[in-house]
Amino acid sequence: MRKALFLDRDGTLIIDKHYLKNPQEVEVFPGVSDFLKKALACDYLLFLFTNQSGISRGLHTLEDTNACNQRMLELLQLPEPGFQEIKVAIEGPEEEEGYRKPSPKFIWEMIEKYNLDPKASWIIGDKLSDLEAGIRAGIRSAWVASGKPRDEELDGYIEKHGISTFFHLREFKLL
Ligand SMILES: [Mg+2]
Repeated sequence: MRKALFLDRDGTLIIDKHYLKNPQEVEVFPGVSDFLKKALACDYLLFLFTNQSGISRGLHTLEDTNACNQRMLELLQLPEPGFQEIKVAIEGPEEEEGYRKPSPKFIWEMIEKYNLDPKASWIIGDKLSDLEAGIRAGIRSAWVASGKPRDEELDGYIEKHGISTFFHLREFKLL
């Protein structure tokens, strides 16, 4: 079985620009590229898992998001295989079908497809929906403080599920 990291994009890998549309505005957090290279060297499979409701809201297109992802990949300069798969969840919050976090659907599909060990796999993100997706999928969740601020609901969830927290992704302890 393999182990994997499911990584949120905005607020985790890159600065959250709120409905990011222009690839020139992509800014990767310091240390993220080195962290991901180390994760690959430690045999983690990497998956990018990003909610982009701006697409269903008509604020930007899937092509815009793909271009921003491409720009991020250029900046990261990861060795092969880089990200195994990239899932852009285009649904809005009111749409219950689909891949939008907190749905565990994408994670479940990847566990099956890549024979992942849920106990050795993590989702890392800055929002409650990231943490919920991981817990619902049966993997582990970690929260980073580099994106959205904490609120009471998030605090309660972190405490209830004993979720690990980090200031930045680069502080996550790879095993
Ligand atoms: Mg985020």
